[in-house]
Amino acid sequence: LSSALTEVAQNFGGKQRMTENSIQPALKSVRRALLDADVNLEVATALLDGVKRRSLGMEVTKGVTAEQQFVKAMYDELLDMMGGDADSGGAMGGNPSLQSPTATLAYKEGSDPAVILLAGLQGAGKTTAAGKLALYLKEREVDSTALDLMSEEERSQTLASRMPKRNRKVLLAAADVYRPAAIEQLQILGKSIDVEVFSMGTDEDPANIAKAAVEKAKNEGFDTVIVDTAGRQVVDEDLMEELRRVKKSVSPDETLLVVDAMTGQAAASLTASFDSAVGISGAILTKLDGDSRGGAAVSIRGVSGKPIKFVGVGEKTAELEPFFPDRMASRILGMGDVVSLVEKASMEVSDADAKKMQEKMVKAQFDFDDFMQQSKMVSSMGSMAGVAKMLPGMGNMIDNSQLKQVEMRIKRSEAMICSMTKKERANPELLLTDKTARSRVTRIANGAGLRFEDGLAFMSEFQKMRTMISRMSKQAGMGAGMEPDP
Ligand code: GDP
Ligand code: MG
Repeated sequence: LSSALTEVAQNFGGKQRMTENSIQPALKSVRRALLDADVNLEVATALLDGVKRRSLGMEVTKGVTAEQQFVKAMYDELLDMMGGDADSGGAMGGNPSLQSPTATLAYKEGSDPAVILLAGLQGAGKTTAAGKLALYLKEREVDSTALDLMSEEERSQTLASRMPKRNRKVLLAAADVYRPAAIEQLQILGKSIDVEVFSMGTDEDPANIAKAAVEKAKNEGFDTVIVDTAGRQVVDEDLMEELRRVKKSVSPDETLLVVDAMTGQAAASLTASFDSAVGISGAILTKLDGDSRGGAAVSIRGVSGKPIKFVGVGEKTAELEPFFPDRMASRILGMGDVVSLVEKASMEVSDADAKKMQEKMVKAQFDFDDFMQQSKMVSSMGSMAGVAKMLPGMGNMIDNSQLKQVEMRIKRSEAMICSMTKKERANPELLLTDKTARSRVTRIANGAGLRFEDGLAFMSEFQKMRTMISRMSKQAGMGAGMEPDP
């Protein structure tokens, strides 16, 4: 799905506003990409309607292209569809990985353990998921690549919000009584992660096993019980009946359907039918590592109304992750974090400001105040390195030390501008060509704790920048930018 979508939306050609006509080809290819990815038809239609609604008449924000903005609309719709919140949280906060996942698992204070019941077809990955979930709940630390990019404060907030009550004491219950090997599989798993497994052999009724496991947990101070159940090849009434009985005997806090991502949109209809037959609280989407299409991830909530809570991304017990709708949406769009870049740009540049700036640039009136405003804008978008990383395909091409130098130069420039007088800021000539320029620059550099040479270097840099900006703006002014919309 992602590669198809990256090719989409190249027909906007620098338009300032998206129109019915200009988005039509893009919508058409997105539709094809969604259906190719095995996204459920109704879900695809709803997505496209939403993208269309969001895009039409949308002013194209300065500093971003129409196709980036189209992608953003697509991203927001995907997010909505998968249960994320496009209008708040991490998506607007800049760092999308700060958005909380849909994985909030019940935890109960007091003596009653939280019970998590796993259901699903044979081979979906239930037993594996039971072990993974046990390990996940047992562990304290967060497995997130985003964490080391965060500030101390962000990190502690994230840890607090994402990981309520981990470090749990977990009991696994073996309630798949149809194959002796199933119990053994769970026991081996449990041993490997040092989690106790409760079983009563294959002769006991699964509902009784689950009940006895919860009883044991209560007596022995376990705070969470994960019940692994049997599956069948296809959905059948026997399986549903058994699950209903198990459910009734332990009243689980979570009933999670384990579904295989490789089954595409069938995973979505399966989730819906399990929900109507047994009642589930969410899904664990397994084998996402083998699924490049994304049809299941996109469709499950749209078809069944149930959130995906976790995803399995490999065979190992550590390969389970909370489901982040925003990350999945980015992954599906496959365009780096174009989306957050668009959001940042649209937050930082109000239309009026951009227009005023452009006029000044064309008239070569660009002064130190404008310089300051621009560099503020860059720093409010995060570090240069952070911004550059978000550009598609740029992630690996950036030389960090070069960027650090640029950041350092910007900081110095800001310090110098701060020690200029109001008059000097608005009249760069005073520092460039005026006969008092030399003494002024000396004073300013000293004021910023720098040497005269640094001041000179900045002035010549500023001069070059001003000439270049004015030349570029004139060209842009005569080119596509002035073209009226069709
Ligand atoms: P169950 O019948 O539902 O209990 O399924 P199992 O837990 O026994 O898993 C069936 C197969 O799927 C096993 O070979 C697992 O290793 C594999 N499996 C489970 N989850 C994942 C996953 O997230 N990724 C991959 N690649 N394989 C998985
Ligand atoms: Mg099993």
